[in-house]
Amino acid sequence: MTTVTEAAPETRPFEADVAKLLQLMVHSIYSEKDIFLRELISNAADACEKLRYDALSDAGLLAGDDAQPRITVTLDADNRRLTVEDNGIGMGEVELAEALGTIARSGTKAFVERIAASKEAEGAQLIGQFGVGFYSAFMVADRVEVASRRAGAGDAALWASDGQGAYTIQPLDPSEAPARGTRVTLHLKEDAASFAEAYTVERTIKTQSGHVPVPISLKDKPDAEPRQIADGAALWTRPKAQVTGQEYADFYQSVAGQYDTPALTLHYRAEGLNDYSVLAFVPETKPFDLFDPDRAGRLKLYVRRVFITDEAHILPRYLRFVRGLVDSDDLPLNVSREMIQESPILATIQKGVTNRLLSELGKLAGSEEESEAERYQKIWENFGPVLKEGLYEDYARRETLLGLARFKSTASGAGWRSMTDYVGALKENQTAIYYAVGADLDRLAASPQLEGFRARGIEVLLLNDQIDSFWVTAGVDHDGKPFKSVTQGLADLGLIPLLEGQAPATPASDDVAGFIGFVKQTLGDAVADVRASERLTESAVCLVASDSGMDRQLERLLAASGRLPEAAKPILEINPRHELIVRLGALGETDEGLREDAAHLLFDEARIADGEPPAEPRAFASRLARVIGRALP
Ligand code: ADP
Ligand code: MG
Repeated sequence: MTTVTEAAPETRPFEADVAKLLQLMVHSIYSEKDIFLRELISNAADACEKLRYDALSDAGLLAGDDAQPRITVTLDADNRRLTVEDNGIGMGEVELAEALGTIARSGTKAFVERIAASKEAEGAQLIGQFGVGFYSAFMVADRVEVASRRAGAGDAALWASDGQGAYTIQPLDPSEAPARGTRVTLHLKEDAASFAEAYTVERTIKTQSGHVPVPISLKDKPDAEPRQIADGAALWTRPKAQVTGQEYADFYQSVAGQYDTPALTLHYRAEGLNDYSVLAFVPETKPFDLFDPDRAGRLKLYVRRVFITDEAHILPRYLRFVRGLVDSDDLPLNVSREMIQESPILATIQKGVTNRLLSELGKLAGSEEESEAERYQKIWENFGPVLKEGLYEDYARRETLLGLARFKSTASGAGWRSMTDYVGALKENQTAIYYAVGADLDRLAASPQLEGFRARGIEVLLLNDQIDSFWVTAGVDHDGKPFKSVTQGLADLGLIPLLEGQAPATPASDDVAGFIGFVKQTLGDAVADVRASERLTESAVCLVASDSGMDRQLERLLAASGRLPEAAKPILEINPRHELIVRLGALGETDEGLREDAAHLLFDEARIADGEPPAEPRAFASRLARVIGRALP
């Protein structure tokens, strides 16, 4: 048992989110509790790698006869205890409170919120998907002690908690602490006693953590000799043919801190001007913080098996969901992280890995095999919105990214369409790729603006991701054809023949033209223009942007975020062939009150179809009441 120096322990409360997370761990019904071991071992390995890096510039840190990184797991079945000890970087008092009293990890907050709002069974599922880190120890322990000494420091500290809302910190007699590094002691709950038994622990570590890059030893009893159960050889240095899918999956989980399996594994060695190894994974599920603005790429950089940084930004932001590492043979070891950023070697690696990843995704996307294509479709469903950011961020790879893109469209049904599918279905005289943007797929599909396109059998892409408004207007084209919004002007429909059985548009009769003029006069400043529509076949009205104007959806987005003074006024298009319009036209100069109500109500109808509220809700209500009142017997 650990003894402490005279000073009284200081009790501190956990940060609110930690308390919530702990509550969750303590009462966890998640059945695979053994994940706590993977978390503790991954922390121990991280600590060894941090030390290995710091020692590059300060060799003194590795002083003593314990220079080789190691992790030792010790079991004490009699006292129901398990310890995980490393000789890594270690923590002082301040670092202990910082690391084990707060939540710094991105995504954790979102995770805690999600889980607090979920049902119990779902919550258990979520724990399985998300690496919950150190605090998972409280799934199996009712008391956890962390004795630690920072590399190169003389003093040591002890952190302890029963997971009930507070922890204590106190100085620790250095003779009670590891000479360097951290010892985590778990006082196991009764129902977790098997984690003090060699059989369970050895099997768990071998399967979960067999490939962490630090050797792991097990002591079956406190006084037993340690025996090595994992050799710490870096998995990525082994030839691909000698690594099993299971080993890749285990490694992925330990490097990604996620508990799904990889949807795509990329393992290769680049040789030539620069030599490096790559082991990268596309996850099977979406991480919680995918759209967190601070979320950066998560590809780790190693140099000759020494971990350097996970902030080398090896991949562009739109590939930030990829996990794994790159191990360079050529980068100098004794160079600062900042200098690495500027290195031409890093630039070569960035380019090489990005291209290779995109080409692997492309192979999967274009595969003839159905199971492969399905696998790609899942990747697209999870990460498509992120990949699309590349369409305007990475001009040079735009064609490649467009080739990877999959779309919902008026022709996709439940499936997805590629650019190749779209181009293959072009209509006679069609010179543009048409799209409609909006937040809601169903509403987009039902939009009156699509009618003229339907009548000609022209496919329209239905874009409902936030990001879509931006890239489509960034001057993207494909196969020599520009992208064009269906809300922009007349969209060249006249040149494309109607499908069989569709009546050609006839010019508006004098009566109808008179009514359209009346609507324009009535609505005044609220619209830029009112005109007869060539595109509408079923609906009476719709709103469009001016021919040269910005897409309406993008305009609204920009206006809402304050980046445009205000959205430009729309054009109201009226279907001169619609029965209602024809009858309103037939009223001629009579019944002005009704025609006025109709003009406003038609405008509101068009706004509603666009997902906007009526222009003046109260006036809308009284007009509607008046019109219904007239119809009642
Ligand atoms: P993560 O590992 O994702 O950062 P954890 O909850 O597992 O999250 O750990 C929180 C922090 O505690 C780590 O970032 C690290 O700073 C610190 N830590 C945990 N275990 C150790 C250890 N064995 N040695 C040094 N620091 C540790
Ligand atoms: Mg961790």
